[in-house]
Amino acid sequence: MSDWQARLRTGSIDSLEALAAKFGEGEIDVEALRPAFDNFQVRLTPEVIDLIEAPGDPIWNQYVPTVQELVIEDGMIDSLGEDEDSPVPNITHRYPDRVLFLVSPVCASYCRFCTRRRKVGDPDKIPLNQYDSAFAYIRAHPEVRDVVLSGGDPMMLSDRRLEYIFQRLREIPHVEIIRIGSRITAHLPERVTPEFCEMVQKYHPIFMNTHFNHASELTPATVAALDRLSKAGLSLGNHTVLLKGVNDDAVVMKELVHALLKARVRPYYLYMADQVAGAEHFRTRVEKGLEIIRQLRGWTSGMGVPHFVIDSPGGGGKVPLLPEYVESISEHEVVFRNYEGKRYTYKQPRQPITSPEADVVPISARNESPARKAPRRATRKSAG
Ligand code: SF4
Repeated sequence: MSDWQARLRTGSIDSLEALAAKFGEGEIDVEALRPAFDNFQVRLTPEVIDLIEAPGDPIWNQYVPTVQELVIEDGMIDSLGEDEDSPVPNITHRYPDRVLFLVSPVCASYCRFCTRRRKVGDPDKIPLNQYDSAFAYIRAHPEVRDVVLSGGDPMMLSDRRLEYIFQRLREIPHVEIIRIGSRITAHLPERVTPEFCEMVQKYHPIFMNTHFNHASELTPATVAALDRLSKAGLSLGNHTVLLKGVNDDAVVMKELVHALLKARVRPYYLYMADQVAGAEHFRTRVEKGLEIIRQLRGWTSGMGVPHFVIDSPGGGGKVPLLPEYVESISEHEVVFRNYEGKRYTYKQPRQPITSPEADVVPISARNESPARKAPRRATRKSAG
């Protein structure tokens, strides 16, 4: 067992009794939490435990279950329709040129708002012995140039298993990039070992999508792990989920994007919380996300402003949302307001106007060989 596995096993909290012992029975309502602990997978790593200052703070809210998880109103079990777009076990193929490859059923800590909570923590639902059909599917689909490894958390696998996956993917000529979706730098930064960093460099280009929701998660140990990944040549971009009681505030979000940039991680997506069963109490109104983007755009570095998106319920893919800046578009000019609300006018070029629809040809149809033109499902959107 490696050091990080031993620390995960001995230092984590995964029971109500251990949580009560750590934070004091008088501080938490043990009996109120019991139904939640009886029903859901729970684990908090030592790093996460250390970050909690008091019950109900932004870190606690992300990891400690509540009975609200038993309340289902508009939530869906598979809110993004991933299973419907799964042609073989462990693969979701929604967008034309990329696939999601679920390689790990477990995570270091379990987030209460997880979109994939129907699967994580259950090895039967992300089977480790069914990789072969996934590799065969990717090999048989030359349009797939980008593979996103996810789960669960891929970094919970051993280096040996990860290297096996990288090797198999690199044997497929049309796989151009590999992405690792992982929350390990927030949960267990010591998992980013020198040995992993040495190994991964053989399989570039590799990207890592990190997942931070609050600036306090960027501890010195975490920043050091991110530094090791950057030095190993991984390109780092961050996903954040907009969560009530965690980061639904422009000041909190600005602190987060600044902390990310200082750690050389580019804020990539800000997601509306998915409409997932058991996590509805985390959802904010969409206007909250738009307001946060409006308070970032122009007021801080542009590269610190993430794309604000809704992942369409039922499986339509990610759709970007922007605050309204444009007031009008005419044949001659565009009128818009800047980040301070001041109005400006941009003159349109003096050219004859052709029908915009006539010019809109999907990139896939223009640039790709005939064999690559058709996505797997003609009816699926290609946003994302
Ligand atoms: S680390 Fe990711 S997959 Fe695991 S519980 Fe958290 S959000 Fe879900």
